Amino acid sequence: MACSIGGLLIRLPLDYLESWTCDLRVQLQPVTSPSGYVQLIAVDSQSIEALKHDPNASDHIQLIDQLKKTNMYALVYLKDPSQLSGTKEEFRHLALKFADLKNFIVSRDQVPIKGEEDQLKLKPPFHLLRALAGPQTADINSFAKDKVTRRLIVSYRGVPTLHALLAQPQNDLNFDAQVKPLSFSGLFDFFDTQQAFIHYHPSGTYKPYSFIQILKGQFHPDDFKHKIVLLGYDTLNNATDYILTPYSRSVVAMSALEMHSNIIDTLIQNSAPKKASPWINVFLTLIISVLTVHVVLSLNPLKGLIILGSTFFVFVLSSILTFIFFNIWVDMTHPSLAIFICYYFFIPYRLIVEYRTSWEYLQRNKLLTQVEELKSNFLRMMSHDLKTPLARIQGMTEIVCADPHQLSQKQIEAITRIRQSSCELTEFISSILNVGRIELKEIKLQLKSKDINKLLNQIIEQHMDLAESRNIQLITEFEPLFSLRVDEDLLRQVFTNLLENAIKYSKDKSKILISTEEVEGQIVVQVADQGMGISPDELSQIFTKFYRSDSVKNSSIKGTGLGLYLAKYFVELHGGTLTVESEIERGSTFTVTLPVQSIKSAMNAGGKIKH
Ligand code: ADP
Repeated sequence: MACSIGGLLIRLPLDYLESWTCDLRVQLQPVTSPSGYVQLIAVDSQSIEALKHDPNASDHIQLIDQLKKTNMYALVYLKDPSQLSGTKEEFRHLALKFADLKNFIVSRDQVPIKGEEDQLKLKPPFHLLRALAGPQTADINSFAKDKVTRRLIVSYRGVPTLHALLAQPQNDLNFDAQVKPLSFSGLFDFFDTQQAFIHYHPSGTYKPYSFIQILKGQFHPDDFKHKIVLLGYDTLNNATDYILTPYSRSVVAMSALEMHSNIIDTLIQNSAPKKASPWINVFLTLIISVLTVHVVLSLNPLKGLIILGSTFFVFVLSSILTFIFFNIWVDMTHPSLAIFICYYFFIPYRLIVEYRTSWEYLQRNKLLTQVEELKSNFLRMMSHDLKTPLARIQGMTEIVCADPHQLSQKQIEAITRIRQSSCELTEFISSILNVGRIELKEIKLQLKSKDINKLLNQIIEQHMDLAESRNIQLITEFEPLFSLRVDEDLLRQVFTNLLENAIKYSKDKSKILISTEEVEGQIVVQVADQGMGISPDELSQIFTKFYRSDSVKNSSIKGTGLGLYLAKYFVELHGGTLTVESEIERGSTFTVTLPVQSIKSAMNAGGKIKH
């Protein structure tokens, strides 16, 4: 799919955009110095002002006389001398002056068909002078179609143009040579021509002498020595004397005079930008399309966006650097567009897929909630129904134990086990019932005044035997406290659970410290043991429903994983907190805080607590 989008994209004609990106690269390219073999003479407004007319034949005779003093290599007129104003005599005189020069050439805009070179010939008396095709190629009907001049023509049907001939190694100018094959780099065929891209220098790089300066002899002959001298117009009056360049689209962006020197220099310096092979374009577009589709479909949106953004950035940057350092023009438009088109094409597809998945999740979630509700209902029903027979079993065992004489030792032990097991089962059922009540938000606080120290003492008393059986010392440090309005039953469950856990998860012969104090309007109860401790990963989970740590799950220590869940809920219902600090093998400290004042308000708030 990605390949077919990439394949279709490559067929899109995007010359305009591509040329625009190339112009951008031209503008970013550091400016290089010209060859120094070209010197310009401009008929400019300053010359016309000084002469009070457009230079005529007699002015040009004087100009040639001045130039003769220099040892220039060639003189190229970009203007047809037969269009100058002057008398027949002056024309004949000028023609003789031109003929007397070493290499005098008139540049013609048209490119003649082979064998029809006579078309280029000038009108008498200049007909014997050399006139060669020095065409100018703006992108009007082909390439970018934006009227910018980006290309130069090296030959037409094998006949070299004026620029190609002039750019041959200096002092080896042979106008009859066919220059076969033309050995400039960056050449490409376009219909019957061989062309290349112009390596531009910014407008103003070539500093022309003004026509009037030459006439007045205000020049250094060394500036012309062994040089190709181009003469043209730069009066800002005629739009045809100017071209649009990659640097600027202004109508007078660059004079044709300077464009010709750029063309000649591109060939002399052999610096025409080389267009990368179209296969590289195909390869890059396909690779980028496949990458984009892969990223859109398989990575999370933010990561995908970052990767695609960086790909685009790296690609653009490397295309610019390739142009700057290697003078190679890599197509930027198709691969860049591949990123955007593939992205926008596949994002909706991904959204549809994700919507479907989340819809399925939602349905599954609904089902799970229903199952959870059914489970809770079932557990509560079961627990209710189990509680009565269990109470009966407990009652029976007590009756039997009350008369131990009729029983053997083994029977007494069995009955005691039955009683213990039914007690554990009753406790478990109560816990489950409490969980159910919590979920239905049925628990309401029954507040009564109670001394927390007293409550704790009662609980400690009840667990003294258990602690002693394992040689665990229970130490108390109680600060005298005022009575507090609390739900005694719920807090009894809380502290019982904390003390039972402390004993259960402590080593034999260790100590447990139970302390109370009042700190800044809070009653703080702490149960600290020297037991096995809880790992940092598990600390946050021990308060969740049915959670038991891995180390105790496989041990013989019994438990339901509900005690702390219920304890936290009950404490928070009083507006307090239950927290833990623990270190593996060093012990745990559970801290209950109960606000002295706000228990009432917590109760009024309906006991909404996170769990
Ligand atoms: P359980 O019935 O398993 O004791 P609790 O909800 O009371 O359930 O405790 C949850 C888990 O927290 C326990 O399984 C145990 O892993 C850990 N835990 C609780 N108290 C302590 C403690 N004092 N020392 C070490 N681990 C404890």
